[in-house]
Amino acid sequence: MNPKFKNAVDTFRKLPGVGPRQAARFVMALLEKSEAELQEFGRTLHNLKRDISFCSVCFNISENHKCSVCLDAKRDPAKILILEKVTDLDSIERTGLYKGFYHVLGGAINPLDGLTPETLKFKELENRVNKEIAGGKTMELIVATNPTASGETTALYINNLFQNKTGVTLTRLARGLASGSNLEYADEITLKHALEHRR
Ligand SMILES: [Zn+2]
Repeated sequence: MNPKFKNAVDTFRKLPGVGPRQAARFVMALLEKSEAELQEFGRTLHNLKRDISFCSVCFNISENHKCSVCLDAKRDPAKILILEKVTDLDSIERTGLYKGFYHVLGGAINPLDGLTPETLKFKELENRVNKEIAGGKTMELIVATNPTASGETTALYINNLFQNKTGVTLTRLARGLASGSNLEYADEITLKHALEHRR
């Protein structure tokens, strides 16, 4: 393989779920684009970290220190829904049914992928919850990790962190989400059901 072509292919292989054939298809598709389109593509990547960052409270994508959800004064501060990814948050928001706050962990526990409790936003979650319940207030933590092996491991970890904490009620999204499936791809009716029947 041409070394420059191989270099381009290897660049795309750094993305999750992209194998060598898929990566080669991406490079071929890009080679068909105009110079101007490629430059625009490059600019977006170049500025990605500068243009998009994360909310300092819930780790949703945000252009500012706090995201639009965290700035919404009409939301219920006694509820935090815990998710793996920002894309899961978008799915729940689309149902329009949930009016509490969120906490995005940044993934699920999966040591083989280098995702340990230390690399996810558990410390931040604990600090946040401790602050919320400090004045004797109570709150509900809704565990909404995916029904996959790593999602279950993560739910168990959250349970261990908070099960004996006074003032914290733990609930879990209801079943109905197929085992092994992903919140991100669940349809709105399934998500509404899962939210309404949490326990
Ligand atoms: Zn936020």
